[in-house]
Amino acid sequence: MDCVSTRDRSLRVSLGQALREGLAPDGGLYVPCELPGFVPEDFAGLDNLPSVAERLLQPFFEDEPLAPSLSEICREAFNFPIALLPLQRKGHAFHALELFHGPTAAFKDFGARFLAACMVRQPQSPTGVTILVATSGDTGGAVAAAFHGRPGVSVVILFPDGRVSPRQAHQLCCWGGNVAAYRVAGEFDDCQAMVKAALGDRALQAARPLSSANSINIGRLLPQCAYYAFASLQLWRESGLKADFIIPSGNLGNACACLLTRAMGLPVGRVVLAHNANLTVPEFMAGEGWQPRASVATLASAMDVGNPSNMERIRWLYQDEHLLRQALTATAVLDPDIRRRIVADHRELGVTWCPHTATAAELHARWVESGTADGQWVVVATAHPAKFEQVVEPLIGEAVDLPPALAELLHRPAQSSRLDASPAALRAALLGA
Ligand SMILES: *Cc1c(COP(=O)(O)O)cnc(C)c1O
Repeated sequence: MDCVSTRDRSLRVSLGQALREGLAPDGGLYVPCELPGFVPEDFAGLDNLPSVAERLLQPFFEDEPLAPSLSEICREAFNFPIALLPLQRKGHAFHALELFHGPTAAFKDFGARFLAACMVRQPQSPTGVTILVATSGDTGGAVAAAFHGRPGVSVVILFPDGRVSPRQAHQLCCWGGNVAAYRVAGEFDDCQAMVKAALGDRALQAARPLSSANSINIGRLLPQCAYYAFASLQLWRESGLKADFIIPSGNLGNACACLLTRAMGLPVGRVVLAHNANLTVPEFMAGEGWQPRASVATLASAMDVGNPSNMERIRWLYQDEHLLRQALTATAVLDPDIRRRIVADHRELGVTWCPHTATAAELHARWVESGTADGQWVVVATAHPAKFEQVVEPLIGEAVDLPPALAELLHRPAQSSRLDASPAALRAALLGA
């Protein structure tokens, strides 16, 4: 299926080309030129993530050279567990959708591994391609893990110096080989702007072919729809009710995937975005203008985004602002409430949240308190708490066990270089100057 730019429908390319380019030439984001429609029965008998993903994504891959490989791509990318954990809060049943059982312990593994599995099956430029990735902490590690050691591909990671957890930093810098990590003297939005500038720089592209693996790449977004389809179908089969999702949000990739999944007819009900003290989206949804700004540092650092790129896709999906405001809600959760929620749910529910997931759990707790928690709520658990042990362990007063994959990465030596927060600095680094 072809993709078009959010800014200009006449900029139309194949899905394969959209995966390779990352960003459309007019600076817009690629979106599918139409959305397939499904009913739950279309997934009858499919009870594991790779099979659901294959069925869901098949229309997007139709007529693409990658179509015959889709089944293999789904099985290779989604080769780790996904868990839907049943919980009770003061008599209200809800679920946690655990998306952190992959190699780098955050949900970014789904998109990164899928994109990597697609890219290595695509014809490549003889000089190879460099994947640029701006990260607020988790994307970079997931992309590095997915592409490390793959021939014909190198990865350049940009992360905001001092703005990621020490374990996240280690996980970004421990690869070597075809992966280079840069600590940028700025914030995530600077990293993202540098990547966009490099992708739009034709002279640079001619010297060193570039692609992106940020959630601006449609190849990250589509596979994220698969877990919303999987979880909502499982709950639908159990209860006949649609699943209502609370999503810890920053750059809005995860939220966009959930909204796309609902738009394709899967049994998704309400979509609620939990943000941190970065208020661009909550204020916009409350009726103020779209005012991107510098990000502020919070405990949920992977959500410290002041200018979320995927808003452009969400606006494309709903066209007018009235429809958009009916489609989702967004609420901010500040650091003191993140801390309190980690403590309270550890004590009362026996679960340990990462600071990001705690924003979503906090909204659920507020509704239970106010008697408005009706529905089949699913808290999307975006990362393993062990990645943020410096925040979590002092709050809960005990150590968080490291998942084995993460423990292995933390044993490797780490190395990174410093970079000024400017497109010129990135250009020079890429050209080896
Ligand atoms: C990236 C990330 C988020 C935010 O996801 P977006 O798709 O950028 O909105 C939330 N939690 C964790 C742990 C993350 O790594």
